Amino acid sequence: MNQVLQRSQLPSVDRLLAEPRLQALATQHGRAIVTRAVRDGLAAVRQKLPETSPTALHEALVTAIAARIAQVTRPGLRRVFNLTGTVLHTNLGRAQLPEEAVEAVVMAARSPCALEYDIDSGARGDRDDVVNELLCELTGAEAATVVNNNAAAVFLLLNTLALKKEVIVSRGELIEIGGAFRIPDIMQRAGARLVEVGTTNRTHARDFSAALAPRTAMLMKVHTSNYAVQGFTQAVPEEELARIAHQHGMPLVVDLGSGTLVDMEKWGLPHEPTPAEAIARGADLVSFSGDKLLGGPQAGILAGRRELIARIKKNPLKRCLRVGKLTLAALEAVLRLYRDPDRLPERLTTLHLLLRAEPDIRAQAKGLLAALQAALAQWPVTIAVESLNSQIGSGSLPVDRLPSAGFVVRPQGKRAGILHVLEERLRGLPIPVIARIADGALQLDLRCLTVQDEAELVGQLPSLQQRPVGNARSA
Ligand SMILES: *Cc1c(COP(=O)(O)O)cnc(C)c1O
Repeated sequence: MNQVLQRSQLPSVDRLLAEPRLQALATQHGRAIVTRAVRDGLAAVRQKLPETSPTALHEALVTAIAARIAQVTRPGLRRVFNLTGTVLHTNLGRAQLPEEAVEAVVMAARSPCALEYDIDSGARGDRDDVVNELLCELTGAEAATVVNNNAAAVFLLLNTLALKKEVIVSRGELIEIGGAFRIPDIMQRAGARLVEVGTTNRTHARDFSAALAPRTAMLMKVHTSNYAVQGFTQAVPEEELARIAHQHGMPLVVDLGSGTLVDMEKWGLPHEPTPAEAIARGADLVSFSGDKLLGGPQAGILAGRRELIARIKKNPLKRCLRVGKLTLAALEAVLRLYRDPDRLPERLTTLHLLLRAEPDIRAQAKGLLAALQAALAQWPVTIAVESLNSQIGSGSLPVDRLPSAGFVVRPQGKRAGILHVLEERLRGLPIPVIARIADGALQLDLRCLTVQDEAELVGQLPSLQQRPVGNARSA
């Protein structure tokens, strides 16, 4: 029988630190982290002395301390495999940067760079100059500026151009984007007064004209990114909104949301309005995200008339919302790719993933099926390669689906709980695999699994082999 240990029988901090396994961890992570884990481990057993032998306790302590060290030294921001089928997954970081952008970020991170410095004159420069010309070329705007994200861009434009004034927006466009971006709330915090016109499904030009008042600062159009109003609907075309705005000497501002810079239809993807189109139709200022369909870093881009951009840049809040050099480096590299639209599908990762064809993804799944089946041989599930529907994500083209393929795992018998166990085990892998439970199955959509990543995914599957031990949910 085991005796309850005496406190005096606990190993000392020094003895534990001398343990070869912990010594090795100290070499790797530093003595401070290991010492803290040892103290925490000892404190935990002191609270409740276990019934065991001193030798067994010593072993258990070393194992627990090593596990604790592994946990605290793991990065907070971890790489994952996105097998959710949503390409621009906001919770998984949206766009994956193309290699050109990754290299630019590394350069900017590692070395001094001319962020706000004009090398020709030796004088102080403006950080927006890094991308200003490219943005003007790609959007047809006279000037552009970049802030932290599109929410910041909308906030800044409202605060600059409509402080204590009114902004007219159609009721059909009072959007809420995930993560608490709501047009009415942003408007209020920016100090502008929202004037809603029309109805949820139909808004006419006369609604805008009737709402014009001396305090009106602008007409605003908001792209309904994450939903679609269908059926008996009517929205006022941008040309007409622009005409009304200009007749009254005020700007038309368009929040495009995603704002891809090219016509996606030429690759068979649904149409998404571009900044160039909005500006050509008379918009004076547009705002859009850097990390949605554009495929770049998180950023908010404002492009339009020189005079409006100049006013926005003079707002002290621009200084609060500006982007750093890493963002600008990545954005510039991505924008440069757009100068060669023909090669965009190979070079822009987001577009490459969106354009992967179903047969290719299916062939990839078939190639990996045996590895997954071997890993799950002891699990009471069946695995099949099936058609799936990917989504673009991030509120882009909400009703459109991309034919895709992947693994569909179904429970044998009525043990639906096993899917949750498996989903959790996949998340627990060294590089967590993020899958989705839908329609009574666990779906692993392979659209976002690049060929380069395949080996790493397969390499960690064998650790799933261990059959799930009995637990409440799988019973
Ligand atoms: C996504 C979106 C935003 C917010 O953009 P972030 O870059 O996520 O801050 C604002 N407006 C519209 C219409 C959007 O689709």
